Amino acid sequence: MTRVYNFSAGPAALPEPVLRQAAAEMLDWQGSGMSVMEMSHRGKEFTRIAAQVEADLRRLLAVPANYRTLFMQGGAIAENAIVPMNMLRGHASADYIDTGAWSQRSIAEARRYGGVNVAASSEATGYDRVPPRGTWQLDPGAAYVHICSNETIGGVEYHFTPDVGDVPLVADMSSSILSRPVDVSKYGLIYGGAQKNIGPAGLTLVIVREDLIGHAMPCTPTAFDYQVVAEHGSMYNTPPTYTMYIAGLVFQWILDQGGLQAMEARNRAKAALLYDYIDSQDFYTSPVQRDCRSLMNVPFRLADPALDAAFLQGADARGLVQLKGHRIVGGMRASIYNAMPIEGVQALVDYMREFAARRG
Ligand SMILES: *Cc1c(COP(=O)(O)O)cnc(C)c1O
Repeated sequence: MTRVYNFSAGPAALPEPVLRQAAAEMLDWQGSGMSVMEMSHRGKEFTRIAAQVEADLRRLLAVPANYRTLFMQGGAIAENAIVPMNMLRGHASADYIDTGAWSQRSIAEARRYGGVNVAASSEATGYDRVPPRGTWQLDPGAAYVHICSNETIGGVEYHFTPDVGDVPLVADMSSSILSRPVDVSKYGLIYGGAQKNIGPAGLTLVIVREDLIGHAMPCTPTAFDYQVVAEHGSMYNTPPTYTMYIAGLVFQWILDQGGLQAMEARNRAKAALLYDYIDSQDFYTSPVQRDCRSLMNVPFRLADPALDAAFLQGADARGLVQLKGHRIVGGMRASIYNAMPIEGVQALVDYMREFAARRG
């Protein structure tokens, strides 16, 4: 068996110890005689798993007591609708900050449910940055302010938590959640799909301040009403049980590594290795302003795009896979989530250096 270094943006690489434990427990979870996929979500075994998953998530992010953690389905794209349905709370509109492809998706979907004020955008500079907080045209009467904390496609990340006063801050953290500590109390709501940094696809995490729950629009599907989900402990409908179990193994793995502080140190070291190399030569370039570069998704371009195919082919041959950039941005993208070891980033940099020497 050969495992590659997988730079996929999502679904993405998982820590090998997690996959090994899942394999070992596949047929018989802890003496139950069943796979976790075969268990009733209301049975005593899965009830135990779900309670541990929730407790570990709350511990990792130090979630304050007045926040609910919900385990939902539909991914971040469904949440783009579920958020306005639950969070408009009778307000006419919400503020959105446009930092790229995922912000645009959120904005387009929210417009189906209420007014959207795009309070700031970096479109004019090709989505190469987060618009400085001082330029935002916020509406004090907005229901909430929505940001995408990390633009998975463009590789633009917030390295500050914007102060938006008393208006709740809502963040799509799909591709940065658990990459470093976050002060949850600064947000009204945090959401994200699992398949970037947490586990397999199929699970959406929602962390929401209690007082914001209970105001869903009447058209909201019952299974997507935060109050209903919260009251039923995320079991109003069947939750994605196996994905939750794997997410739980990932949470344990992160705790074993030293928690989110340790993750941040590792992630900063990995990103620095790659960006420092990119900045040290002219063959590869980063399209993102230095102070907004993502620790998780690193887009880069070759000086001559005619060499892209050869670059990707050579990378594949070395077991460095899924490096092709998103079609909107072109070039390359290395996603280096928590599960990517520094050895994988070093192998990529070694290959980039060698390719540039050969073809530059
Ligand atoms: C991947 C991603 C999405 C889309 O998630 P789905 O699970 O496909 O709905 C949305 N926002 C961000 C920031 C993402 O990285």
